[in-house]
Amino acid sequence: MDRTEKRHRKDIEKHRPYDEMKARKQAGKIRRAMQKGKGEARENRVTEDNWEELLDRHGPSRKRPSLNDIIADLRESPGEFGEGDFDRAGIVISVSSGRCRVFQDGRELDVLVPGDVAARQKSALAVGDRVIVDETSKLTAVLPRRTVLARPDPHMKHVQRLIAANVDVVVHVVSLKSPPLRPRLIDRFLIAIQRGGAQPVICVNKIDLIESPAALPDLDPYRDLGVAVIPCSTKTGEGLEALRAQVEGRMTALVGHSGVGKSSIINALDTSLTIATNTLHRRGTGRHTTSASTLYDFGGGTYLIDTPGIREFGLWDLDRESLRDYFPEFEEAAEHCRFTNCTHVHEPDCEVKERVEHGELNRARYETYVRLWRDLE
Ligand code: GDP
Ligand code: ZN
Repeated sequence: MDRTEKRHRKDIEKHRPYDEMKARKQAGKIRRAMQKGKGEARENRVTEDNWEELLDRHGPSRKRPSLNDIIADLRESPGEFGEGDFDRAGIVISVSSGRCRVFQDGRELDVLVPGDVAARQKSALAVGDRVIVDETSKLTAVLPRRTVLARPDPHMKHVQRLIAANVDVVVHVVSLKSPPLRPRLIDRFLIAIQRGGAQPVICVNKIDLIESPAALPDLDPYRDLGVAVIPCSTKTGEGLEALRAQVEGRMTALVGHSGVGKSSIINALDTSLTIATNTLHRRGTGRHTTSASTLYDFGGGTYLIDTPGIREFGLWDLDRESLRDYFPEFEEAAEHCRFTNCTHVHEPDCEVKERVEHGELNRARYETYVRLWRDLE
């Protein structure tokens, strides 16, 4: 039995949700694609392993010029739905208790969410969901999701709360000061984003607050993983074009601690949008202006989702073995560890530890790995 098959059996034994298995498969794909090299070389080489991924990225489903195209996608793979259903399909732009707002056919509708959906609403419905609404403005179905962005419920750790659905890109916004940057948080966000199937981007905001670029933290380990790192400032406008290039024609969620500047970034990307930006509390902690996720249609297939300030992503139901998938940079070294099942935490003759000692692998990333590994006990 190979590793994949073993894992698959374990999943079935443990009744793991399908979404999660799919998310892991996606992470595996990303990992394999990364191993094949970075940047252009990786993009262009089609192999048996990556053709599906390349098709996803370059095929017609990747760009979404309009909501009509999203609906056209649905028509192509209708699943259990009838043709007529899609005439009443729309996209969720915000969710409140018992109701949601939906873009449908160029209109914005106030839609009733019936009891059975409402009962599980936080996990059953999310901003970005494609839904079917009947003539009486009642929600009748939530269509299958391509990706999810989720975190565990702060009070019930086993319950998954959806932050957004069907996002192509998730921009993790961090700021250099007020609140200060904690690079370790980035690793958790990255894992949560990749698990849900979206492409992560790191945006370092408020660079106007530092004296020189030399004061920027070292985020090269993330660049080496193929993650775009974009320093920017909504005050000076620096980096905003690079950010725009990442989100254009795609559905993007902005996540991060409250006060890092998510709303300001959305405003800066489209000055016609006016979202109340908050001023920081005297204590230095951000105040919430947005209490739930909201989707903004920028036209031309560009959708941005502003999410509530999230301090931290807990990692629900991640096991130690799948943790490795999110540290692909260790993989080559791992082949040289004395034990084939080396965890790189406590074993002797561990090549990963060796390379961390010699500065060939990033120490901060390794320390995060060890911390997460211990947390997952
Ligand atoms: P959010 O909670 O992440 O949506 O953050 P906001 O967009 O509300 O911004 C929080 C505070 O940071 C506000 O006072 C903004 O004016 C400020 N801010 C946002 N972007 C920048 C920036 O690039 N530089 C500086 N110096 N302040 C910024
Ligand atoms: Zn090892």
